[in-house]
Amino acid sequence: VEIDVPPPAKGQVQVRNLWMSVDPYMRNRMNKGASYVPPFQLGQPLQGGAVGEVIVSEDSDFRPGDLVMSMLGWRELFNVGAGALQKIDPDGLPPQLFLGLAGMPGLTAYIGLCRIARAKAQETVFVSAAAGAVGSAACQIALINGCKVIGSAGGSTKIEFLREIGVDQTIDYKASPDLAAVLARAAPSGIDIYFDNVGGPHLEAALANSRPFGRIVLCGSISQTDRPARGPSNIGIAVSKRLTLQGFIVSDHLREMAGFVAEMGDWIKSGRIKWRETVDRGIESAPAALLKLFAGENVGKMLVKLA
Ligand code: NDP
Repeated sequence: VEIDVPPPAKGQVQVRNLWMSVDPYMRNRMNKGASYVPPFQLGQPLQGGAVGEVIVSEDSDFRPGDLVMSMLGWRELFNVGAGALQKIDPDGLPPQLFLGLAGMPGLTAYIGLCRIARAKAQETVFVSAAAGAVGSAACQIALINGCKVIGSAGGSTKIEFLREIGVDQTIDYKASPDLAAVLARAAPSGIDIYFDNVGGPHLEAALANSRPFGRIVLCGSISQTDRPARGPSNIGIAVSKRLTLQGFIVSDHLREMAGFVAEMGDWIKSGRIKWRETVDRGIESAPAALLKLFAGENVGKMLVKLA
């Protein structure tokens, strides 16, 4: 839809979006009431994280040229009350990183690994969707913590990326019909932590290969999208091995964002954490970009570049 955008009113800021984030949770918001965020409304634009640049400001806290984060409808140019914007201090980082490693997906990886699983040095961590936004951050944060990391992803390009970022053992699950057996070979003494981004067969393989008192972080279950729910058929193992399975939602942990961004900024600048991104261009490419997440066509963070 094309509309005219008038000059901003007093207390408003006019923003031109530069980058839009494309995230798996958006698909769940298309189901009635099935997500932890309210469903999208028919006839309204999809909403999501975006980084933009202030063009005109009628609020004393913002100036033209400021970089800002918003969580509004997918759009190129808009006026909004200053309270809906969060200023970004890029501090030498590319602005789109605040939608990826230095933003919500990076914090998700950090919280899951360091707060929920409480990963310790020498532990063996298995990560699924390991070449994605959350997964690649989880792998690298685990490596920084001195863990041994096994990453699973689909296809040789992603496996190559995992090797580049220092993942100890890689599994191309699309070429591994018996995932549990492949994981057993990668971790003969079992895994201490499974960072679950996908659910389904990966979760079953992780249960089968967990060490006693292992921790399973339930971050997402993208493999179960648009399918009749399939519970792990071997969930009984959680009893005999005394496992802890814990879900979490990153939005409960936003108070940690500022500290996390500072630490992540240091890791990125010192080269300890690397990143990839998959960039589609123009707002018209956004629906196809969203579908790429479910076909595994993104490496690293999926983004739409607008300007
Ligand atoms: P990614 O960048 O990881 O993209 C999604 C990836 O999922 C794809 O590239 C694909 O990788 C993989 N995938 C898709 N379908 C399947 C399948 N059937 N089986 C196995 N893997 C599949 O997305 P994000 O990093 O943004 O999100 C990763 C997960 O984290 C999602 O489940 C998401 O919902 C969750 N999440 C949870 C949050 C929380 O607060 N709990 C916050 C943010 C994200 P491949 O080619 O390797 O299959």
